[in-house]
Amino acid sequence: MKHLEDITTLKGIGEKTAGLFHRLGIYTIDDLLNFYPRDYQSYKAPIKLSEAVDGEMVTVELGIFDSFKWKKTRTMTIGTGQASDGTNRVSIVYFNMPYLKGKLIKGSRFLFHGKVRSEDGKYYMDQPKLFTYDEYNQLMGQLWPCYPLTRGLTNNAVMKAAGRALEDYEEAEYLPEDIIREYGLIPLKEAKRLIHFPKDWEALIEARKRLVFDEFFQFLISIRKMKEYNKELDTDYAMIETAWPGRLIEQLPYKLTGAQSRVWNEIRQDLTSGKCMNRLVQGDVGSGKTILAFLSLLMTVTNGYQGAMMAPTEILATQHFEQLVSMTKKYDLPFCPVLLTGSLGAGAKREVYQQIESGEVNVVIGTHALIQEKVRYAKLGLVITDEQHRFGVRQREVLNEKGGRTHVLVMSATPIPRTLAIILYGDLHLSVVDERPAERLPVKNCVVGTSYRNTAYKFITEQVKSGRQVYVICPMVEAGDEETEGLENVVDYGEKLKSILPKEICVEILHGKMKPADKKRIMDAFQEGHIHVLVSTTVIEVGINVPNATVMMIENAERFGLAQLHQLRGRIGRGKEQSYCIFINGSEKETSMERLSVLNKSNDGFFIAEEDLKLRGPGDLFGIRQSGAMEFKIADIYQDSELLKRVSMTVDRLLFEDPGLQSDKHAALKDYLEENAGNFVDFRSI
Ligand code: ADP
Ligand code: MG
Repeated sequence: MKHLEDITTLKGIGEKTAGLFHRLGIYTIDDLLNFYPRDYQSYKAPIKLSEAVDGEMVTVELGIFDSFKWKKTRTMTIGTGQASDGTNRVSIVYFNMPYLKGKLIKGSRFLFHGKVRSEDGKYYMDQPKLFTYDEYNQLMGQLWPCYPLTRGLTNNAVMKAAGRALEDYEEAEYLPEDIIREYGLIPLKEAKRLIHFPKDWEALIEARKRLVFDEFFQFLISIRKMKEYNKELDTDYAMIETAWPGRLIEQLPYKLTGAQSRVWNEIRQDLTSGKCMNRLVQGDVGSGKTILAFLSLLMTVTNGYQGAMMAPTEILATQHFEQLVSMTKKYDLPFCPVLLTGSLGAGAKREVYQQIESGEVNVVIGTHALIQEKVRYAKLGLVITDEQHRFGVRQREVLNEKGGRTHVLVMSATPIPRTLAIILYGDLHLSVVDERPAERLPVKNCVVGTSYRNTAYKFITEQVKSGRQVYVICPMVEAGDEETEGLENVVDYGEKLKSILPKEICVEILHGKMKPADKKRIMDAFQEGHIHVLVSTTVIEVGINVPNATVMMIENAERFGLAQLHQLRGRIGRGKEQSYCIFINGSEKETSMERLSVLNKSNDGFFIAEEDLKLRGPGDLFGIRQSGAMEFKIADIYQDSELLKRVSMTVDRLLFEDPGLQSDKHAALKDYLEENAGNFVDFRSI
């Protein structure tokens, strides 16, 4: 059953708060219930200061020694004081929390929750949370959700809303009894409740298992449907060989690698076969997939058809567009391309739609705006999706309505072992670009602690002085709440670097919350070399190509999955110069260093993904998402690969026994899938 009521129907959510939820993509009750915590917090029994482990969250019962002293500076209010646990004393600091003034007075006792630092036998706590005994007793003995947040929306507000939404939540079981029993799954309704409010880690693991199962199960069923759908369809856009692609290959400043030539031949064969192409081109970052896309587009337009190329971000779409425009000029190619993104003004959009419909333009590059309903193509022969976007049944249906059975090429840099690729991409033919252009020096890596920063800044300065450019990556956009405390953010880091690095070095920032026009301005300036150091979030993760950038420094590297770090690193090492990647490990945990050092050992995406999996124990189940590129909500194809394989067999068996889901025991499943049709595959990124 779907809960499509607007979130404003929940008590306590007015228009203004709803606006904040919208920023997180939450519009309906269903969205809210599916907005899973990114982590959980437990409140353990209070301990003594001397028992605290550096860097871990603990709770200490403390009596205030002397009333706190409060000082106002130009930008903040600072409160400092001392407290004691009976044996040891601790110095405590609060920033911008003047309302604690009345509480932190001589003789009062509280439970302080936070990290304890010890230096030279002295103890320190910054910004600990404060609880009375009653408050703390209520928190103990349960896990509390930590949600990804947006400025202005507190964790508490999301938690309350989720709690309210769960009060009236109903969900009938749709899975057949035998499957539930075989896998030992808890009811979906229970799983949804427990994923938000688990009693303990065991309950959480059960909840997660059910939700992961459902994601895989639904995904695989729709994949199988796709497979039926794609089966050897005759295309409406049969092509013949033209001389253009071969000529372009000869004129390129480099020679195609063996792998590129092989894959290009596979694509050519598909396009000229008379059947619809459904091909996935997989290749590690930097293996040179873009040129394969351009060759395919060239073949398409010289056969008199249109081609479309879809990218996950406006930045990447813009880059592809500009690259195609410059190639068109340089080699005098018959492309007439247009860029279509969500940020175009209404008037400009209408004009572009018109050009597409009339056939005036033959290549459309953009974000997913380019297959939206209003866009009508004159004769769309080929659709390419670069990085991330999968092409779902729905999109295919939309395209068919737009005029015919089109060729589809999917390009991905996500490293997936072949066994999994066959399950996940069962509906596509697979090509692998398993060779890098020669003459590239492998990236040199180092994994270091935060104390290395100054050395890194010196190194960055030298590199910029010798003409190179630099990326600095931070996990957060702006200073957040206490949940994300200690994580570097782009806005502050940009300011910091501007003041630390020599004046003549131009530092700018880039993140997903900026206006598209600003992003474009910054990206262009970086591309042209006017910006030397770009401080950015992972928005630059996919596809960006600036060969002159030779240094990447990643702050809080421990917060990213190894596969994702590998993707990020793929932004450098693209030119002839030696490149360097500096991973700053902000965690004191030993395992974190060990995990990151895998990146030191290898530049091979497959190897890295597998190693990461081996290194992660059950305790790491929730913290780190393996790859930002794979947007299963909760499932992780690496971590849950065994379950994925098993579910795949179950789905095969189910559809073999009852292909149309006609039997009584599958009635609920059939209804459920129909009700949710299109939810699962569409734009599911893999
Ligand atoms: P990805 O596979 O990550 O999308 P790109 O297509 O962006 O990689 O290619 C990365 C860079 O390598 C580009 O600057 C491109 O021009 C260059 N390149 C592609 N193929 C070759 C080749 N065979 N030899 C040398 N450089 C190449
Ligand atoms: Mg690419």
